[in-house]
Amino acid sequence: MPGLAHRWLADGTLHNGHAEATAPGCVPVLHSFVEGLIYLPSAKPASRVAESASQSDAPAGANPAVAYSLIDAPPAEECAWCGHRFDGADTRRPGRTRCSRCGVATTSPWPSDEQLGDAYAVWYRPTAGRFSGVGDAVLKRTRSALASRLQKVLPSGPVLDVGAGDGTLIEAFRRNGRDAVGVDPYSNGANPHVRAVEFEEMTGEWSAVIFWHSLEHVRRPVRSLRHAADLIVPGGMLIVAVPNATSMQARLFGDRWLALDLPRHLVHIDPPALLSQLEELGFRIERVSYLRGGQVLFGWLHGLVGRFPGHPDLYDTIRRSEARQAAQSPAFRLYALGAAVVSLPVAAVGTAIEVARRAGGTIYVQARREQKAS
Ligand SMILES: [Zn+2]
Repeated sequence: MPGLAHRWLADGTLHNGHAEATAPGCVPVLHSFVEGLIYLPSAKPASRVAESASQSDAPAGANPAVAYSLIDAPPAEECAWCGHRFDGADTRRPGRTRCSRCGVATTSPWPSDEQLGDAYAVWYRPTAGRFSGVGDAVLKRTRSALASRLQKVLPSGPVLDVGAGDGTLIEAFRRNGRDAVGVDPYSNGANPHVRAVEFEEMTGEWSAVIFWHSLEHVRRPVRSLRHAADLIVPGGMLIVAVPNATSMQARLFGDRWLALDLPRHLVHIDPPALLSQLEELGFRIERVSYLRGGQVLFGWLHGLVGRFPGHPDLYDTIRRSEARQAAQSPAFRLYALGAAVVSLPVAAVGTAIEVARRAGGTIYVQARREQKAS
């Protein structure tokens, strides 16, 4: 499908030049830049699946993608995005294979349900919160800001948050008087508005469906998007934020890129593939941003800190000790935080450059379901 794949350029503008999608202007850039700093990722750079498999003796700072690639699971045989059967033309990297047809990479080896379950075990999202008190408070604030912003663009009616986690975003919507429900198969049941079911089991009519850093976690993302198209009322909105696998930071930090997050991230999305797919499903793209999805500056910080001797894992550093992948001594945590402070100016410049080039670490898409049935 070369025509389809090339309709959207890598920077999210249309090939024919009359893009409806727009880059954020100067003021929104500044605003979003601050958000890019404080949005905390739900991803985690390395996995206990890798640790518990053949890499139980992996030294601290080991390459997480290489460690994951050694787990006991079959290689991915087809692209999880477009279904293309992998052959010699596809690009194989540690822990993932990039499809020659659509440009999306699929996690390989392809984890079993049990291996994925291990990767989402309780320690990943402890009920007491993932981060230190300040971190969780920041997460709550940023989700409130996101809900308030979306309130202004979404038509009235109920909102469905796919991959709702502990429900921070839907609670923010509910505080604004909006009916909001979440689905998350890994929900711990603590929030009555988050249903522990697969998204495909959901029915009803929704004015908006949100995939906030969740589409990359599902085994058949295009099937999920198609289901979303079925659930969203005509004129309703689809909101998607995912890591941008072809961003500058993804290319620069490679196997250690924060948002590679193997194996929880099962697909590694190329923006043109996402935008083309949404149009094919009957959505009109109204906005594309390479900053609004958040995690952009943190992606840079994490990557730069990971280049220091000993490869400190900044994301682990800021998590509560019980939510950490590997133990970190107080001295090592201090070292990692110091490295982050030193790296901040470079990370800020890197963020500014990649966002200006529309190659930011995440892509945010706001799309409206056309009035006509697709
Ligand atoms: Zn593909």
